[in-house]
Amino acid sequence: MTREIKLILLGAPGAGKGTQAEIISKDYGIPAISTGAIIREAVKNGTEMGLAAKEYIDSGALVPDSVVIGIIKERLAMPDCKGGFILDGFPRTVPQAAALDEMGVEITDVISIEVADERILERMGGRRVCKACGATYHVVFNPSPNGDKCACGEELTIRSDDKPEVVKSRLDTYHEQTEPLKDFYNAKGILKIVEGQEKLEDTTALTKAALEA
Ligand code: ADP
Ligand code: ADP
Ligand code: ZN
Repeated sequence: MTREIKLILLGAPGAGKGTQAEIISKDYGIPAISTGAIIREAVKNGTEMGLAAKEYIDSGALVPDSVVIGIIKERLAMPDCKGGFILDGFPRTVPQAAALDEMGVEITDVISIEVADERILERMGGRRVCKACGATYHVVFNPSPNGDKCACGEELTIRSDDKPEVVKSRLDTYHEQTEPLKDFYNAKGILKIVEGQEKLEDTTALTKAALEA
């Protein structure tokens, strides 16, 4: 890929944003930035921000805009973002998208990975994450090469917000607050839609095709 990529991945919780972001990050040599991962790290470390965020996360709500905008501002200022980046899970509200504009960040591509709510609910029960290295697996669709341990050797865990009742409220939050961003970016002419596939490699192929079209 020769042109600069400043990509936003949109999509419901569990649509496969993180999975695709990791693959594209390696293949294109640009960092993948997940606000969810940054917040979970703060929760794990017991920082003030992390403690305040935990309640929102565990109820399936969004963390306040001011908090995540601050996180992203700091992260995008780091030198590894100079040549492009992938945003996984930010922006999630119209004010967050407007904040990117105000920061002067010029997004080149927005890809929405579309997966029906029923399929999301099936998938989330099988998500396993590594608290040490952040890797994500699925017990059936994307198992760890290391059985019930991560490739890095650590135990795999279930996210506290992946319980079915929390997933339902995260899906509501997505439809109400995040989905309007499709119109926001479509109006700018940079929105592309990718239908999430059964096999994650097939979604990767469609995502790359959208970027290289
Ligand atoms: P998923 O990948 O399943 O969509 P994330 O890891 O991106 O989940 O986010 C987990 C939780 O972290 C969200 O449900 C929300 O509470 C919080 N969060 C992450 N990113 C944002 C954001 N941009 N704005 C507000 N809250 C966020
Ligand atoms: P998001 O970041 O959008 O919340 P993830 O990338 O964490 O989504 O994926 C959610 C779960 O679904 C994970 O357990 C992941 O391994 C699995 N998964 C990802 N892509 C696919 C796919 N195409 N088919 C089935 N399962 C998938
Ligand atoms: Zn690991």
